[in-house]
Amino acid sequence: MGDLSSLPKAHLHVHLEGSIRPRTLSEIAARHRLTLPACFEKGYRFRDFADFNLQYRAIRACLREARDFRRIAFEFCQDEAAQGVRYAEVTFTLGAHGPRLESWEMPLESVLEGFEAGRERFGITCRVIVDHGRSKPPELAWRALETALRYRDRGVVGFGLGGDEKYPPEIFADVFHAAVDGGLHSVPHAGEITGPESIRGALVALRAERIGHGISAIEDQSLVEELKSRGVALEVCLTSNVAIPALVPSIDRHPLPRLIDAGLTVTINSDTPAIFSAPIASEYELAKKTFGLNDEAMAELARASVTASFAGESAKSSIQSEISRWLEESR
Ligand SMILES: [Zn+2]
Repeated sequence: MGDLSSLPKAHLHVHLEGSIRPRTLSEIAARHRLTLPACFEKGYRFRDFADFNLQYRAIRACLREARDFRRIAFEFCQDEAAQGVRYAEVTFTLGAHGPRLESWEMPLESVLEGFEAGRERFGITCRVIVDHGRSKPPELAWRALETALRYRDRGVVGFGLGGDEKYPPEIFADVFHAAVDGGLHSVPHAGEITGPESIRGALVALRAERIGHGISAIEDQSLVEELKSRGVALEVCLTSNVAIPALVPSIDRHPLPRLIDAGLTVTINSDTPAIFSAPIASEYELAKKTFGLNDEAMAELARASVTASFAGESAKSSIQSEISRWLEESR
């Protein structure tokens, strides 16, 4: 049996502000004379997606200074490296910080500095996906994009769309076209809470190259075929889908095995590992245990994460060889 924290992998769907060590957040909050958000209290249960959003906003509000952003990015590198992650594309919601702190550059620049320090220390490469919270107006998305594009050479690789899916993708079509034309990859969330139409909207209106979650694709066979023919991968986050009520009722009812059987490119991700106490290796473990997957299937999921990433070709092939070695050694 292979140890899944030593399985080399890429991590494609993980929010930086949802990955902060509770102890670190508590220290940062205390320094700014704030209290730790309620979701870190023992036994806290999310009521619904709106509740999750509220808690998430409280986490972000704790971050105020450059050193806060640098620290959480650096510690992210350490934590992810310990999970076998060699390469990560990390979502960062710039619009949640820029207006509040009256600087759009400082938060992003500090995160990139933290990642660079983490790369030197822990040997893991982290790239940034700047995302926009869809309940906020397109003007904020434009401002986030404009900043993201200026940092394209320093590690920003993609533009994303998160938050409440009752705001459909089409609202942001122009912003995403500009992002893609500017050289960023389009990686919106879709089909997490809403049905296949939101995934289709992301594909067509936003030119999505991967879909965040996308689990409702399984309800529409023609959409499954469309995703396959376009080579668009899904970023599946098991615990997250179950932890927020009304998404997936229980882990054994999660459509992961059906998505794999349908021939889709499926990747395993943690979404917000600190909030759900579910780091990525434990998400692989959960998939393995719940659906009876073997080491070959685990290696296949790790391979898919590398293939679907925007890492350079040489980085990709070196992680793929490491995965093959892991599989050899686990036999
Ligand atoms: Zn997400």
